[in-house]
Amino acid sequence: MYDPKSMKATEFIDDSEILETLAYAEENKSNYELINSIIERARDCKGVTHKEAAVLLQCDIDELNNKMYELAKEIKQNIYGNRIVMFAPLYLSNYCINSCVYCPYHIKNKNICRKKLTQDEVRKETIALQDMGHKRLALEAGEDPKNNPIEYILECIDTIYSIKHKNGAIRRVNVNIAATTVENYKRLKDAGIGTYILFQETYNKANYEVLHPMGPKHDYNYHTEAMDRAMQGGIDDVGLGVLFGLNTYAYELVGVLMHAEHLEAVFGVGPHTVSVPRICPADDIDVGDFTNAVPDEIWQKIIAIIRIALPYTGMIVSTRETPKNREKALELGISQISGASSTSVGGYAEQEEENTAQFDRNDTRTLDEVVLWLMELGYVPSFCTACYREGRTGDRFMALAKTGSIRNCCHPNALMTLKEYLIDYASDKTKAVGEALIKKELLTIPNEKVRAIAEKNLELISEGQRDFRF
Ligand code: SF4
Ligand code: SF4
Repeated sequence: MYDPKSMKATEFIDDSEILETLAYAEENKSNYELINSIIERARDCKGVTHKEAAVLLQCDIDELNNKMYELAKEIKQNIYGNRIVMFAPLYLSNYCINSCVYCPYHIKNKNICRKKLTQDEVRKETIALQDMGHKRLALEAGEDPKNNPIEYILECIDTIYSIKHKNGAIRRVNVNIAATTVENYKRLKDAGIGTYILFQETYNKANYEVLHPMGPKHDYNYHTEAMDRAMQGGIDDVGLGVLFGLNTYAYELVGVLMHAEHLEAVFGVGPHTVSVPRICPADDIDVGDFTNAVPDEIWQKIIAIIRIALPYTGMIVSTRETPKNREKALELGISQISGASSTSVGGYAEQEEENTAQFDRNDTRTLDEVVLWLMELGYVPSFCTACYREGRTGDRFMALAKTGSIRNCCHPNALMTLKEYLIDYASDKTKAVGEALIKKELLTIPNEKVRAIAEKNLELISEGQRDFRF
């Protein structure tokens, strides 16, 4: 029985509710009045339900699809302006006892070289990332209680936060590790993590169990209820995502929105981020084996609908996607992207000799190239990490986001962190484009007092000071 407030996975992600929703959407895919009314109502930035989102997804009226894309762009602009937050993944270990059939780290893959970073290697990776200009990381590790116990992850987090190379610092460490206990989530919280990220992969239980035939991840309920335990452990910024291509995309879109509704219903705060990865080639993984591959246009429509449904939730796209796809996704709703990522264990400090990558990248540009590209597209790349460091997390963050007042922090923070990047890491060309952009964007800060403080801080950054934030 569907119940968004239930703490049981099969009740808040109820299969029959999803199937009924999909049938309802199919029946209404040409219902002009209904679809138009959903779009019009969503202009208030209060989101739409999973049922309404499903109807938008099935909509087969060109005029309304275009209207939907325009609305997604409008919401993106109103809430996020032209800022794009930058981050990089850091792979700690590819030891894994699970058997996910879509991931090369699965236990049966004997081709791949298994590797786990020592603390010295974590140090080297962190320095390499700092030297590029990164301030925000997403840690990645397979599930292996012997090789990657929680103590190892905590030690890595400590090491990363402790390193200050030249003007570099990693100021926010997000963590993407396997579902765990409330106790372990508390320990992650105490270690100062930002967002806890865990992809559901697929919300379809039967399909999930086939795709995860062995290992602890086989337990659908334990995996699906992980965000509840993370919240109970005090982590109030959680990141959802599915791997599009494993099941039908419509099922997954409804599932992820029901998950968001569940978090909102139980904890009063929805997900901090949603990621939208699609299955892509890797060692031992042939995309042709997955028959639900999502074409570009549908993927873009999914992004637009998530932006409409969850206006205040950050949306993330990785280097799985090509620059061209990333450009389109940015327009329609993406607010965070990775740049210059290595998807290998130890891939930042040293050129990869052994095969340890989780997936093939389709955007291999340097961070400087990505930053310049964003600015030439009219965006302001932001290395801001202020909120979690100022205690603006969970419902505190959402309250500020929903009243729009967070904008007073995001924009000056974006300009100040971009300034740091330009001085410390950028090429001459990027620097010139960036300085002109900062000058222009300063004028768009509406509050005079905030603008004056930002101007003063930018001068101090030029003189060598770092780490200002609103
Ligand atoms: Fe292990 Fe995660 Fe890969 Fe599954 S997806 S095999 S849990 S690393
Ligand atoms: Fe993100 Fe907060 Fe910085 Fe805005 S001020 S970019 S919401 S961390």
